[in-house]
Amino acid sequence: MTDHPARRLLLVHAHPDDESINNGATMAKYAAEGAQVTLVTCTLGEEGEVIPPSLAHLAADRDDTLGPYRRGELDAAMKELGVTDHRLLGGPGRFRDSGMMGAEQNHRPGAFWAADVDDAAGHLVEVIRSVRPQVLVTYDPDGGYGHPDHVQTHRVAMRAADLAADPAYRAGSGAPHRIAKIYWNRVPRTVAEEGFARLRATAPDAFPGIAAIDDVPGVVDDSRVTAQIDGAAHAAAKSAAMRAHVTQIAVDGPFFALSNDLGQPVFTTEYYELVRGDSGAPQGVREDDLFAGVAGAER
Ligand SMILES: [Zn+2]
Repeated sequence: MTDHPARRLLLVHAHPDDESINNGATMAKYAAEGAQVTLVTCTLGEEGEVIPPSLAHLAADRDDTLGPYRRGELDAAMKELGVTDHRLLGGPGRFRDSGMMGAEQNHRPGAFWAADVDDAAGHLVEVIRSVRPQVLVTYDPDGGYGHPDHVQTHRVAMRAADLAADPAYRAGSGAPHRIAKIYWNRVPRTVAEEGFARLRATAPDAFPGIAAIDDVPGVVDDSRVTAQIDGAAHAAAKSAAMRAHVTQIAVDGPFFALSNDLGQPVFTTEYYELVRGDSGAPQGVREDDLFAGVAGAER
């Protein structure tokens, strides 16, 4: 266990691209500082829509080769962020993208939404007991915006955190490990409002339309946000990582759009809500380091 870096951050996401959009600057910052940054992606996003017309044939209703293609995009994005430890939950193809809520794909065999939470969590327990992260980042119970794979990612990540710490769970397969701090991805409502105001003022025609604030995952009242990571120094890496997800994201300067063509701001300061563990900042003050207060992991 002594060969682990002092600081170890685990992020659990639903699809390739979610990590770069939500946490790209945070991942680049901690990787650059020598922390171990581990990304677990639960599906390959096989049901995603494809933005470039030249790649439209990859889609699930045509060649159905978007998953392997997005795996390549994820590899490229991780190179941009300097993250070397990225894994697919249960191995490539173990869990498939479930499509949007209510789609018939929700219930097809192998769909992540149809997976047994404890079964899926078991794969993540292996990672947790091996990597032994002090900090876990994932989504809130709504998955940030209700996508079934994001909701399921939340359930699996939270369940795995509990099981990994339980000495009775799969005793003998890795020492139990308790994650000191768990965060959910957030965006403070005023920050989102300012971002959209900037988009309307400076680049109203950058995309065919402009998204609504509630299209942004994880938007909450500012008071719920307990940590903010200033990623300004890593804005270029975040932007490059987002651009690497060619089939999913169109980036234009400080703004981007998904396949719905609706512009939204890229946030280079990234925000979090601490939901388990003790804050390392005084009451009422946002943490500026996800490892704050973790014994042996503070800077
Ligand atoms: Zn997603």
